[in-house]
Amino acid sequence: LEKKLAVLEGRIPQKYPEVKYLGYKHRKRILVTGGAGFVGSHLVDVLMMRGHEVIVVDNFFTGRKRNVEHWFGHRNFEMIHHDIVNPLYVEADEIYHLASPASPPHYMQNPVKTIKTNTLGTINMLGLARRVGAKILIASTSEVYGDPMVHPQPESYWGHVNPIGPRACYDEGKRVAETLAYSYAKQEKVVVRVARIFNTYGPRMHASDGRVVSNFIMQALQNLTITVYGNGKQTRSFCYVSDLVDGLLALMDSSYTLPVNIGNPVEHTIEEFAVIIKDQVPGCRSTVATGAAVEDDPQRRRPDIAIAEKHLHWSPKISLQEGLQRTIDYFKEELSRTTFYNNQTY
Ligand code: NAD
Ligand code: UDP
Ligand code: UDP
Repeated sequence: LEKKLAVLEGRIPQKYPEVKYLGYKHRKRILVTGGAGFVGSHLVDVLMMRGHEVIVVDNFFTGRKRNVEHWFGHRNFEMIHHDIVNPLYVEADEIYHLASPASPPHYMQNPVKTIKTNTLGTINMLGLARRVGAKILIASTSEVYGDPMVHPQPESYWGHVNPIGPRACYDEGKRVAETLAYSYAKQEKVVVRVARIFNTYGPRMHASDGRVVSNFIMQALQNLTITVYGNGKQTRSFCYVSDLVDGLLALMDSSYTLPVNIGNPVEHTIEEFAVIIKDQVPGCRSTVATGAAVEDDPQRRRPDIAIAEKHLHWSPKISLQEGLQRTIDYFKEELSRTTFYNNQTY
């Protein structure tokens, strides 16, 4: 307590990660919706370290204060507890609009809220961008391609989405979000960027958010059965979070206005992926079991990243092995922090 009081009173300086000094001409005021979530918090770190002013807006539906608490009290950082389904009046030069649950169990748990967040919430953020003249980047998703009939998926593919299935609240919500972005661009001259993000993983994913990487790693670390849904022949391509963040920053800064796929094209079946993770956790005694298939589960997914390479000069740098190692180390630490997880199933 004595030390904390000393920090508060300014007798001991508060330690923050190193922040570059930017003069007022270069310093931007950047709004990050969903900034307390997995991807948002990594983006906030980079923006803060580059010396910008960052405002995080989050309702903590799936995010956590802990993801950004290392910035609390910093003069360039602000955090607003707010649900973007309601209007928001702040000033900003740029907006990264990431607020939306992303994990299937999360978005399926409250489909109405998911669609409200992606439609009404996106209208509010576009309205804000219009009012203050901010550039806005919308976090869209590979799910706009649905269960794709074209492989790998280029941005020109219109997708194959079931509009009334269990994933529709998210898939169709994001499709409307894209339509809204281009409608505001055309009619109101709002400057928009649209990132179609493919499966991303890394530290700060929520251990129990139900996505495949967190599930498999948590299971492998505890020698629990690794739960493959369906026959495991469905594929995904996994991008490490720092690569994704670099891609989002490059897209915001580029002059390319159409949607851009951001993801890592290295593709694996989920069955292979279970074995890769098991082999990377030393001494893991888990077995891999197949179970019931998930309704409308996309069967193949791999980004065509030619546009990102050409227009953003971006491609992913972190190998699956390296990214998984960092993520496994993170979840190991999470497990040692608390025994809460021990009796949970994932
Ligand atoms: P996440 O669930 O960790 O983060 C989402 C954040 O948005 C959370 O902090 C949550 O509390 C907040 N949020 C949700 N609804 C809100 C609302 N109504 N008002 C204010 N805040 C709200 O998910 P993530 O993986 O960090 O995803 C971030 C964005 O990227 C999402 O838009 C998601 O659709 C998109 N995306 C992510 C992936 C991926 O693999 N991680 C893939 C495709 C697209
Ligand atoms: N909006 C907001 N913050 C702003 C400006 C607008 O949340 O700074 C909301 C506003 O409540 C509206 C939505 O964004 O519902 C769309 O704004 P727009 O200006 O396009 O439409 P209008 O206000 O004419 O409905
Ligand atoms: N999956 C799985 N076991 C799990 C969690 C997910 O086999 O414990 C599968 C899921 O059915 C899908 C893939 O892994 O085929 C990726 O699922 P995730 O929820 O991570 O993301 P999605 O790409 O489906 O949004």
